[in-house]
Amino acid sequence: MAHEVVLIPGDGIGPEITSAMRRVVDATGVAIEWDVRDAGAGVMEAYGTPLPQHVLDAVGRAKVAIKGPVTTPIGTGFRSVNVALRKHFDLYACVRPCLSQPGDGSRYEGVDIVIVRENTEDLYAGIEFDEGAAEVAALSELVSASGQKAFRPDSAISVKPISIEGSRRIVEYAFEYARRCGRRKVTAVHKANIMKATDGLFLRVAREVAQRYPDIAFEDKIVDATCMGLVQNPADFDVLVLPNLYGDIVSDLGAGLVGGLGMAPGSNIGADIAVFEPTHGSAPDIAGKDIANPTAEILSAAMMLDHVGEQEAAERIRRAVRAVLAEGTAVTGDVRRAQTGSARGAVGTQAYADAVIASLRAEA
Ligand code: NAD
Repeated sequence: MAHEVVLIPGDGIGPEITSAMRRVVDATGVAIEWDVRDAGAGVMEAYGTPLPQHVLDAVGRAKVAIKGPVTTPIGTGFRSVNVALRKHFDLYACVRPCLSQPGDGSRYEGVDIVIVRENTEDLYAGIEFDEGAAEVAALSELVSASGQKAFRPDSAISVKPISIEGSRRIVEYAFEYARRCGRRKVTAVHKANIMKATDGLFLRVAREVAQRYPDIAFEDKIVDATCMGLVQNPADFDVLVLPNLYGDIVSDLGAGLVGGLGMAPGSNIGADIAVFEPTHGSAPDIAGKDIANPTAEILSAAMMLDHVGEQEAAERIRRAVRAVLAEGTAVTGDVRRAQTGSARGAVGTQAYADAVIASLRAEA
């Protein structure tokens, strides 16, 4: 029976890289019934929302979705469709493997880390008050009454909730993942020296959870020291578990260790629904030019195939991507530029996908 998968192409480079991804997945021979649904600025006029109810219904039914990136207007306009989707389905665990591949164009070799980012809380909870809002004045009074230092009256406020339940389930997810995937260590990343209430709670819960997993090593690290450590010696790290904001930032750092944003896949996992998407955004600067690297999207699809029980096809895709990168003639401009300082000789998004498909078929 075909697997039903919702495909949200997104915008910017989304349509190009998802079409490349879909062709690669279809070339594995795995039967997928793609339910294509649009979201983002392009559907605002028709539906009055960037994330229409029919899209949510489709994902809720299929339980598996893969998406391209969706642009979020900066400062004003609608909130992130990506964040809304994660919150709606309580997709609390964002899992982003960063694995070196020969020919990926990175300055590093042998990087093999997995970033487990909490996806629903923290400064991304969407609880925000503009400068001048009545809530800011009310909060100011609350803060003064609590005896803490007042903040300036012309402040805007973003609230950072970090809960025991939210922290526990993400740290448990990281340890369960480590166990399932034969990993040796989990590092909890925080800034508990400064944010003693919120990050302090996250760290306390992480330490409690760690005690239940004596077979997996545990350490905690301050986020700034983590960034320095990752750049200096990524082999010191294995699985990292982080609150939402640090997880977002460190994910891009991790992508930078393995060839850049075009290389880094990801998944958003909830109790019974999973949405797969690359770490990168909609890259408006290169959209519509057939130059985006679809590897992150294709490797996200491999994670999706693992999830639906098609591990063999997933492995075939990973092998084909590795073979094309290692062979080195059919690579996209970002990889070629990282290798040689110039994009000359690079191939386009679709030609790269063709090379991956040819490699898949050659192996079969
Ligand atoms: P971005 O990730 O889109 O781009 C950062 C840089 O990386 C750009 O120079 C871009 O050209 C390059 N890049 C990204 N993906 C690439 C690829 N596959 N191949 C080659 N180069 C690639 O980050 P941004 O510019 O900060 O964000 C653009 C938009 O995407 C924003 O609206 C942002 O909110 C949104 N965004 C969406 C998601 C998502 O859909 N999950 C994630 C992050 C950002």
